[in-house]
Amino acid sequence: MSKLTKSDKIDTNKQIEAVRAAGQVGSSLQANLVIACADADRALLASLGDDLKFVTITSQAQLASAAELAVTVTPSTATKCERCWHYRDDVGADPAHRTICGRCTSNLFGAGETRKVA
Ligand SMILES: [Zn+2]
Repeated sequence: MSKLTKSDKIDTNKQIEAVRAAGQVGSSLQANLVIACADADRALLASLGDDLKFVTITSQAQLASAAELAVTVTPSTATKCERCWHYRDDVGADPAHRTICGRCTSNLFGAGETRKVA
Protein backbone atom coordinates (compact mmCIF):
# COMPACT_ATOMS: atom_id res chain seq x y z
CA MET A 1 0.00 0.00 0.00
CA SER A 2 1.57 3.25 -1.08
CA LYS A 3 1.41 6.51 0.78
CA LEU A 4 1.31 9.73 -1.14
CA THR A 5 2.91 12.97 -0.14
CA LYS A 6 2.00 16.40 -1.42
CA SER A 7 4.89 16.28 -3.87
CA ASP A 8 3.85 12.97 -5.41
CA LYS A 9 2.46 13.07 -8.89
CA ILE A 10 -0.32 10.70 -9.74
CA ASP A 11 0.04 10.11 -13.41
CA THR A 12 -3.55 10.65 -14.41
CA ASN A 13 -2.38 11.95 -17.78
CA LYS A 14 -1.27 8.51 -18.87
CA GLN A 15 -4.76 7.05 -18.39
CA ILE A 16 -6.42 10.07 -19.96
CA GLU A 17 -4.06 9.91 -22.94
CA ALA A 18 -4.93 6.24 -23.49
CA VAL A 19 -8.65 7.05 -23.57
CA ARG A 20 -7.99 10.06 -25.79
CA ALA A 21 -5.93 7.97 -28.21
CA ALA A 22 -8.87 5.57 -28.43
CA GLY A 23 -10.99 8.51 -29.54
CA GLN A 24 -13.31 8.45 -26.55
CA VAL A 25 -12.45 11.94 -25.35
CA GLY A 26 -11.21 14.93 -27.35
CA SER A 27 -9.21 16.44 -24.51
CA SER A 28 -8.52 15.80 -20.87
CA LEU A 29 -11.25 18.29 -20.05
CA GLN A 30 -13.77 15.91 -21.57
CA ALA A 31 -12.72 13.24 -19.11
CA ASN A 32 -14.37 12.34 -15.87
CA LEU A 33 -11.81 10.93 -13.51
CA VAL A 34 -12.13 8.50 -10.64
CA ILE A 35 -9.03 8.09 -8.53
CA ALA A 36 -9.27 5.06 -6.30
CA CYS A 37 -6.66 4.84 -3.58
CA ALA A 38 -6.00 3.94 0.02
CA ASP A 39 -7.86 5.88 2.69
CA ALA A 40 -4.84 7.94 3.80
CA ASP A 41 -4.14 9.00 0.22
CA ARG A 42 -7.79 9.65 -0.38
CA ALA A 43 -7.88 12.02 2.60
CA LEU A 44 -4.92 13.93 1.16
CA LEU A 45 -6.54 14.24 -2.26
CA ALA A 46 -9.88 15.08 -0.67
CA SER A 47 -8.17 18.02 1.03
CA LEU A 48 -7.93 19.60 -2.42
CA GLY A 49 -11.70 19.69 -2.49
CA ASP A 50 -13.18 20.89 -5.74
CA ASP A 51 -9.73 21.94 -6.94
CA LEU A 52 -8.88 18.30 -7.63
CA LYS A 53 -10.45 18.66 -11.08
CA PHE A 54 -8.32 21.71 -11.82
CA VAL A 55 -5.17 19.95 -10.64
CA THR A 56 -5.92 17.00 -12.91
CA ILE A 57 -7.19 19.24 -15.74
CA THR A 58 -10.42 17.30 -16.00
CA SER A 59 -14.04 18.37 -15.84
CA GLN A 60 -14.83 16.08 -12.95
CA ALA A 61 -12.62 14.22 -10.52
CA GLN A 62 -13.95 11.88 -7.90
CA LEU A 63 -12.31 9.79 -5.24
CA ALA A 64 -12.95 6.19 -4.34
CA SER A 65 -11.54 3.81 -1.81
CA ALA A 66 -9.27 0.96 -2.89
CA ALA A 67 -6.22 -0.91 -1.64
CA GLU A 68 -4.28 -0.16 -4.82
CA LEU A 69 -4.12 3.12 -6.69
CA ALA A 70 -6.31 2.97 -9.78
CA VAL A 71 -7.33 5.74 -12.13
CA THR A 72 -10.47 5.35 -14.22
CA VAL A 73 -11.29 7.69 -17.07
CA THR A 74 -14.72 7.97 -18.64
CA PRO A 75 -15.90 10.46 -21.26
CA SER A 76 -18.10 13.22 -19.91
CA THR A 77 -21.67 13.32 -21.15
CA ALA A 78 -22.08 16.94 -20.11
CA THR A 79 -22.03 19.98 -22.40
CA LYS A 80 -18.80 21.82 -23.20
CA CYS A 81 -18.64 25.34 -21.85
CA GLU A 82 -17.71 27.75 -24.61
CA ARG A 83 -15.53 29.84 -22.31
CA CYS A 84 -13.60 27.46 -20.06
CA TRP A 85 -13.95 24.27 -22.15
CA HIS A 86 -14.92 22.27 -19.08
CA TYR A 87 -17.72 19.78 -19.63
CA ARG A 88 -20.37 20.65 -17.10
CA ASP A 89 -23.98 19.85 -16.42
CA ASP A 90 -24.74 23.46 -15.61
CA VAL A 91 -23.90 24.88 -19.05
CA GLY A 92 -26.86 27.04 -20.00
CA ALA A 93 -28.34 26.87 -16.51
CA ASP A 94 -28.64 30.64 -16.72
CA PRO A 95 -31.02 31.41 -19.61
CA ALA A 96 -29.16 34.69 -20.19
CA HIS A 97 -25.90 32.80 -20.84
CA ARG A 98 -26.81 29.58 -22.63
CA THR A 99 -23.34 28.61 -23.88
CA ILE A 100 -21.34 28.96 -20.69
CA CYS A 101 -21.31 27.12 -17.41
CA GLY A 102 -22.43 28.23 -13.99
CA ARG A 103 -18.85 28.78 -12.85
CA CYS A 104 -18.12 31.11 -15.78
CA THR A 105 -21.43 32.88 -15.37
CA SER A 106 -20.51 33.47 -11.75
CA ASN A 107 -16.98 34.61 -12.62
CA LEU A 108 -18.15 36.97 -15.36
CA PHE A 109 -21.39 38.24 -13.97
CA GLY A 110 -21.54 37.18 -10.33
CA ALA A 111 -19.45 37.03 -7.23
CA GLY A 112 -16.87 34.67 -8.76
CA GLU A 113 -15.51 31.40 -7.48
CA THR A 114 -13.28 30.63 -4.58
CA ARG A 115 -10.25 28.49 -5.30
CA LYS A 116 -8.18 27.12 -2.49
CA VAL A 117 -5.24 25.43 -4.21
CA ALA A 118 -5.11 25.46 -7.99
ZN1 LIG B 1 -17.20 27.59 -18.07
